[in-house]
Amino acid sequence: MIYLDNNATTAIASEVFEAMKPYFTEKFWNPSSMYDPAIALARDIAAARKSIAAHLGVKTATPILFTSCATESNNTAILGAVRANPDRKHIITSKVEHPAVLEVCRDLERRGYSISWIDVDTDGNLDLKQYVHALRPKETLLISIMHANNETGVIFPVERLARIAKETDPDILFHADATQSVSKLPIDLSGSFSNVDLLSFSGHKFHAPKGVGALYVRPGTPIRPYLIGGHQENGRRGGTENVPYIIGMACALDLAAETHEEDFARMLRLRDRLQKGIEEAVPFVEINGKNAKRMPNTLNVAAHSVEGESLLMLMNQEGIAVSSGSACTSGSLEPSHVLVAMKVPSSALQGSIRFSLSRYTTEEEIDKAIAAFKRSVENVRSASPYWNKTEHKPDFSKYFKNESI
Ligand code: PLP
Repeated sequence: MIYLDNNATTAIASEVFEAMKPYFTEKFWNPSSMYDPAIALARDIAAARKSIAAHLGVKTATPILFTSCATESNNTAILGAVRANPDRKHIITSKVEHPAVLEVCRDLERRGYSISWIDVDTDGNLDLKQYVHALRPKETLLISIMHANNETGVIFPVERLARIAKETDPDILFHADATQSVSKLPIDLSGSFSNVDLLSFSGHKFHAPKGVGALYVRPGTPIRPYLIGGHQENGRRGGTENVPYIIGMACALDLAAETHEEDFARMLRLRDRLQKGIEEAVPFVEINGKNAKRMPNTLNVAAHSVEGESLLMLMNQEGIAVSSGSACTSGSLEPSHVLVAMKVPSSALQGSIRFSLSRYTTEEEIDKAIAAFKRSVENVRSASPYWNKTEHKPDFSKYFKNESI
């Protein structure tokens, strides 16, 4: 299988696996216990916390809170802020967030909170004017905006957004879901990100295992715990720590930092090769987010007159692991909320495929993926009522009249 679905999850790096191993066997203690080997484990967790903090530009380890995943980190950030600040009832977010933010905000909306859902343009860029107008001094409790989009890779200027928020009202809290960007983009919480109060991420997006994440909580940020029932994490999250996975996540971030620049350049080169190869080989395709600042590892391609599920099936038969939109929405026939927000025309909405690379992706894999994509699209189109088989182009008359490419 050629694995090009690294925004869904990544392979565990062998170095990470080796670093974790002893914590599954001889170092099995509960880090809260009071005998020497357990105390040593607590020290290992402290070292992991410090190292992760340092990669994010944080000098002390305390602000890093370990969680089970980014979904928990996002829930903790939003619901923890809501619980601690009952006087403010307005939240700002975007229409293209991951469901781990979207659904929490929708639930709060049902419970009487006022939510401003900020639009994006056709390239996936956030509507800055709308964002500025949405800010309400003394009313806005929290802003939750992602750093990089999981479906398109489009990067939002969270540094700037957070600064504008604090200039409007320093008590507005700013949460960034950085699940797709940590380890890939520079994040300095003492520098350009110094107005970000809360930042979520997850180990399995950068070659650590699934089941461990973290939330950065700037000291002094008023939030209540989300998981209650234990004194762990300085009383901020109950539950015995997942020691091996925490060690694994710290090791994975160390590894990423060691080769960050060359990995970034390599992924960008291969992603651009993939994009160019597809554009040359397959007619009537759109690159979603093409003109926006994008992650170097993500390519979202929409092929006109193609049904996405069939395309995915054929790619699977070709031995290529990709997804349509996010893993959480694949398996449903609903079009991606991100592409709907970007107003991708209906003739291309169903045929969107996300390729996401990792530092282990090779040029040979990319070339095979281009050839497989070409064959798969041709195959689906040959059976599609939306493809004009004599003129070899989409039959736009079958779509809504006011939409075209
Ligand atoms: N936020 C974003 C932007 C994501 O891409 C994901 C996962 O795809 C999540 C949150 C949820 O991450 P996890 O699977 O660790 O809960």
